[in-house]
Amino acid sequence: MTPLVDQFQRRITYLRVSVTDRCDLRCTYCMPERMDFLPKAEVLSFEELDRLCSVFIEAGVRKLRVTGGEPLVRRDIMEFLRRQARHLTSGQLGELTLTTNGTRLSRFAADLAAIGVRRVNVSLDTLDRETFQRITRRDQLANVMEGIEFAQKAGLKVKLNVVALKHDNAADIPGIIQWAHARSMDVSLIETMPVGDVEGDRSDQFVSLAAVRAELESFWRLKDIPDITGGPSRYVRIEETGGRLGFITPLSHNFCADCNRVRLTCTGRLYLCLGQDEHIDFREPMRAGASDADLLGLIGRGMAIKPRAHDFVISTPGAAPAVERHMSMTGG
Ligand code: SAM
Ligand code: SF4
Repeated sequence: MTPLVDQFQRRITYLRVSVTDRCDLRCTYCMPERMDFLPKAEVLSFEELDRLCSVFIEAGVRKLRVTGGEPLVRRDIMEFLRRQARHLTSGQLGELTLTTNGTRLSRFAADLAAIGVRRVNVSLDTLDRETFQRITRRDQLANVMEGIEFAQKAGLKVKLNVVALKHDNAADIPGIIQWAHARSMDVSLIETMPVGDVEGDRSDQFVSLAAVRAELESFWRLKDIPDITGGPSRYVRIEETGGRLGFITPLSHNFCADCNRVRLTCTGRLYLCLGQDEHIDFREPMRAGASDADLLGLIGRGMAIKPRAHDFVISTPGAAPAVERHMSMTGG
């Protein structure tokens, strides 16, 4: 099989798949309190998801990240992951991983480790119970903390994803980094992205990671380390803590030239770029009886329309989101 290469000669090896749009939290930057979730018939079944991911792996995907919504709220999630883990055993897939809010990780951590998951990203924006409740609209910090503990005990490497929010957590970021590095967790800071309608004005919470970095550099030494992910993260090592810190900056830094990834929604749409609307639908062809060769053809068509770059701007207060779908549809 020839590798997946797009129209700008970027090699695509990384698929993020959102397995559900549902979630047990309601992070203010991600979705409104009263979120309209999709009817079940619109969401790919376990068999459809398994088949489609397997075809992508056949086509050359080497890394599969399962996300959502909250992947661990989907009822058949462990069966799905167990099925996908066969590609790890066969050597076709190099890494199977997931991004989770951690609320159910204590229940699943040991099983994840047992099937060959080595690393998980846990999203956690604060260590303070009240702030957690304000950001996520749910009182679940204790469960997340327990989830992280269980994950580490099961031998999973945990990385924290922290969305930088001007009013809610910007002042606490050094404390979160210190806490995480003392427990051998890397941290990635994320700028809020204008995707999907939420209640309130996201531009009000936007803080540039360039500003956060400048502040950290006023008391810590940050040493750049070369990028190995082909993604929007730029990493440094903090000499004082010894840990790694990533900056995910879709707005103030353009990472698109090295993009190696595409995203599949839980409805079977392949989005070629997080910040653009170009997509290919797989659900209807699959439900109409498409063969694996047909699906491979559709993946090839996707490579031909993957955009050169995203188009995010968050400068105008109250402006409409750059893309209408929520992060929980496309996955983080
Ligand atoms: N529920 C899981 C979680 O929170 O980790 C997985 C899905 S969530 C959509 C994936 C990541 O996207 C999380 O780290 C979350 O903080 C981030 N995210 C959600 N909405 C965002 C936004 N508007 N801007 C930046 N990051 C966002
Ligand atoms: Fe749920 Fe993750 Fe979105 Fe928060 S960021 S509402 S945990 S999907």
